[in-house]
Amino acid sequence: MVCVYCKQPTKVTNTRPRRTGWSIWRRRWCQKCQLSFTTLENMSVASAIAIKSPQGHLQPANYSQIFISLYKALGNTQKDIEEAEYLTLNVIDKLFKQQQAILTTSFVKQQIFETLNSYQTKAGQRYLLEEMDD
Ligand SMILES: [Zn+2]
Repeated sequence: MVCVYCKQPTKVTNTRPRRTGWSIWRRRWCQKCQLSFTTLENMSVASAIAIKSPQGHLQPANYSQIFISLYKALGNTQKDIEEAEYLTLNVIDKLFKQQQAILTTSFVKQQIFETLNSYQTKAGQRYLLEEMDD
């Protein structure tokens, strides 16, 4: 990868796998401008899992859709962004654990609900009211 500042080649100075195991953090350093930045290599959820609607339509799983559902249920505050990111990784981890390339919308919603509910019952109930009936 090239330097984000000067577009010259960079050197990886540190690598750490993240907790989930499907994401890697790398610290990069540019020899030319001497600046550093971090890259995050993530599994493409959309390339691994398709979601089947009740009508039988398939759509790639979408990190942002899961994140927004969680974020809305948590309460939409600045502080909820970090929590929603953490919970999104938990939901996606549960989806991968199924070892199936196609999952149903209702299964995914159930995983979102259970993750939210065990984290904060109030948020779980809010999700239930807003999302589970469609
Ligand atoms: Zn540079």
